[in-house]
Amino acid sequence: MRITRRTLLLGAGAGAMSVLLASCTPEPNPAPSPTPTRTREPQPNGDVPVPAGSVRSSWTTDPFARGAASFTPVGALAGARAALAASVEDRLFFAGEATDEDAPGTMRGAISSGERVVDEIRERAQRGERIAVIGAGLAGATAAAGLVDAGMEVTVFEARDRVGGRVHSRSDDSWPMPVQLGAWLFAADDTDLIDRLSARDIGVVDLSGAQWLSPEGEVDPVSAEPLQTAIDAAQTAPEDVTIAEALTEAGGDPADPATAALLAFLATHAGADADLLSSWFPPALVEGDQMAARDTLVPFVEQALDGLRVGLSSPVAGLAYDDSGVSVRLGTGEASSFDRVVVTVPLGVLQQQGLEFDPPLPFANRGAITALGMGAIETIWLRFDEPFGESDAALWHTVGGDAMIRTWVNLRPATGENVLVGIVGGKAAEDFAALDDEAALEAALASLTVYA
Ligand SMILES: Cc1cc2nc3c(=O)[nH]c(=O)nc-3n(C[C@H](O)[C@H](O)[C@H](O)COP(=O)(O)OP(=O)(O)OC[C@H]3O[C@@H](n4cnc5c(N)ncnc54)[C@H](O)[C@@H]3O)c2cc1C
Repeated sequence: MRITRRTLLLGAGAGAMSVLLASCTPEPNPAPSPTPTRTREPQPNGDVPVPAGSVRSSWTTDPFARGAASFTPVGALAGARAALAASVEDRLFFAGEATDEDAPGTMRGAISSGERVVDEIRERAQRGERIAVIGAGLAGATAAAGLVDAGMEVTVFEARDRVGGRVHSRSDDSWPMPVQLGAWLFAADDTDLIDRLSARDIGVVDLSGAQWLSPEGEVDPVSAEPLQTAIDAAQTAPEDVTIAEALTEAGGDPADPATAALLAFLATHAGADADLLSSWFPPALVEGDQMAARDTLVPFVEQALDGLRVGLSSPVAGLAYDDSGVSVRLGTGEASSFDRVVVTVPLGVLQQQGLEFDPPLPFANRGAITALGMGAIETIWLRFDEPFGESDAALWHTVGGDAMIRTWVNLRPATGENVLVGIVGGKAAEDFAALDDEAALEAALASLTVYA
């Protein structure tokens, strides 16, 4: 990790809090925890070649994520995200992608939530106040950097032994590029973020072209326009319906293989299936070419945290607050007092009560935590010795058949590397996450037979 000389990184253990708050002596960076990597020789699967390497994510079961991205389920009231973001007693402040109304479930939303919370605290706090930030993902890093600029004394507590949270670029010599287990794709409205990455020499490649393939052969590209029209119509209805219902009401058929492939693609962004998603507050429909990070995204987060006190492997277990301050209690039992705290842990962690609040959060905040959904997205990276197939399209969609993974990113056209990335969302992602490594790889290879 390239965090600077002045940044303090600690491992877990008793005394972490006192050392973190008292010392400015750099500590060695603990080694990153290994991500599950397949070691057993996979069995040949029809014409699908055996990959030379594979790595998969496990966000669904990750105790510090409990899912991949927040979504708005059907029936959730307008204002749920604002209620989630609402500060409590002017002492507890909330950021993180789930609190962002404009771009929830994205890197952009996470950064924007971190910026929002800085403004909120600046309005209320004096310079020099002690602020704790819980979580060193994009929201936490953005908030921490902004609060330091505003003259606050900031301490960041991060449960993992790395920063970045759901941005997780894993560099490994056996791969020709960093494996991105979390966020790494950008849509047309991410230009500002892409510019910021470029300014830090983090490269982005275009993912041009899409192919839609069924077991019978190539099919016409499936347009998102009818889906958008159905959502637009549903938005004028007196009651919220699911996106699947909106489609049906507009004369579409969510079970039609081509439509189902489009909805599977939607689930890779939304984290939830069309039979759960609100049509009043729908996820952004991704149309047109996307872009992907070519380089590790870790320096982007690290640079925001440059010079800050960051306690790694320091899961916060509880926050006790009143109108004069907040006591932060670590999993080790140690506690320390702060003037204010910024909570950026994922919605899934809040839903699973991974953080104890004393007294309990007000009803409005708790209501928002239960009203919103935490979706599932998983990814599997496959590295081949030879080019896989002939296609020069970057995005592959599987129409029909029984593939578990229906969306693939082919990195060869953009990077020259024989790397395929399977992405799966919603219920299929939960099913994929429940498989052991061997079965997951077999499901991935079986999903590729149509392209072999
Ligand atoms: C597989 C996947 C693919 C994605 N793809 C994209 C994409 O292509 N484009 C896009 O824009 N977005 C994508 N996203 C969403 C994006 O990653 C998130 O919206 C964003 O990174 C969230 O940032 P955050 O700071 O809100 O939360 P996080 O990054 O989750 O940060 C929260 C931090 O809190 C820490 N934490 C949790 N509990 C505790 C505790 N008790 N004590 C201390 N720390 C704690 C966590 O370890 C974490 O570091 C994807 C997400 C996933 C999982």
